[in-house]
Amino acid sequence: MASTVLCGKPFGEASGPDNPVGDRRSTTTRDRIVAATTEGVAATAGSREDSGPDNPVGDRRSTTARDRIVAATTEGVVATGRVQTPMRAFRILAAKTAEIVDLPTPEPGPGEALVKVHVCGLCGSDLHAYEGTQPFFRYPEIPGHEMVGEIVAIGPPRELLRLPNRPIDEPWRIGDRVTLDPAMPCGHCFPCRTGRYNCCVNLRVLSVHAPGALAEFFVAPLECLFHVPDALDDEIASLAEPVSIGCEANNRGRIGPDDTVAIIGAGAIGLCVQLVAQARGARVIACDLSPERLAFAAKLGAFATVNAGESDAAARIAELTGGDGPSVVVEAVGKPATIRQALDLVAASGRVVLLGLCRDEVTIPGSVMVRKELDFLGSRLHGGTFPQALNLIATSAVDPRPLITHRLPLDRTEEALKLMAEHPGDIVKATLNAERRI
Ligand SMILES: [Zn+2]
Ligand SMILES: [Zn+2]
Repeated sequence: MASTVLCGKPFGEASGPDNPVGDRRSTTTRDRIVAATTEGVAATAGSREDSGPDNPVGDRRSTTARDRIVAATTEGVVATGRVQTPMRAFRILAAKTAEIVDLPTPEPGPGEALVKVHVCGLCGSDLHAYEGTQPFFRYPEIPGHEMVGEIVAIGPPRELLRLPNRPIDEPWRIGDRVTLDPAMPCGHCFPCRTGRYNCCVNLRVLSVHAPGALAEFFVAPLECLFHVPDALDDEIASLAEPVSIGCEANNRGRIGPDDTVAIIGAGAIGLCVQLVAQARGARVIACDLSPERLAFAAKLGAFATVNAGESDAAARIAELTGGDGPSVVVEAVGKPATIRQALDLVAASGRVVLLGLCRDEVTIPGSVMVRKELDFLGSRLHGGTFPQALNLIATSAVDPRPLITHRLPLDRTEEALKLMAEHPGDIVKATLNAERRI
């Protein structure tokens, strides 16, 4: 048993006379842990104070779970000495209410890894969860998925979920530096069976349906973890996730060197679509209402920028394309008016990629769709695009680093979310780091 274990100090470091957890274990269990730790097995001493029906994180550390992990350690859960409990986490309690809290460090179940988070970027979806406009978010929950970290423990083996078109970056070892595809497909539905697992009808997403990475540690299925090339530092690699979203949108729009692409919305996602399109040789026209965002897009290499709020915006885009209109329009805003605008702007025979999440009904002009013979394409998450994104960054074909405008300690996550909501022109991407102190 001990031969499979690489343990510095055990999970249970925080237990002791002043930690009631140890006392709550049955004699048998405690004896097993003591016996195990003397042999170097990583065991856990999750605190029960935070567990309960209203705390999904705590639920993972129920007595049963703790017993399971103790049992699992005897079957080969391995950990490094970089695990400590409790851990600090940013948790959203309800709309516009959040806290920095100490929670028990989660335990990796079968086929899962415990990851020590080095850096985690804030995404628009984290802001939606904070604002109460993310309908799938269950409160209380830890958001955050644009992360880079290090595998510090691996749960017992299980068969990996292999799906058509899903890249699996095995093998994973303790100490590996990884980034995260937060999507957890079911593996059974029609899209899962046919190579489109990102459209899984039962899709669960880490940071939405399960605890995310705005914490010192989090647990992820191994299939979701991709190795970070050594040449990339943590900060730039944390942008692999939004760049991968950009790859998916570019793939959906079949964007290539002959295209002129109008991107409506120059937020972090629109800018990532831009960087990938430019890497493919396309010319980008950036459209936004914010002069600051347009200046940003220009700095990143946009061929032209158009303020969508000006009355001659459509005429200007037509003029920039010799009267044809852009061959591709990517809508990265998610409003009925901008979706309609995309259909009007795009060249006849062109493609419209819908990336912004729009909850409202949209009126589609049937005659325009047919007359222009448009491809109207949704784009969702990552359809096997993570390796593509990491490769674009590693080869410097895409340099997303300028997107990071704010670097803050984890303790100031709420402040960063408020800044995103109130001053969107001032912030493109904030990264949080649990080791940075206020
Ligand atoms: Zn994201
Ligand atoms: Zn599925």
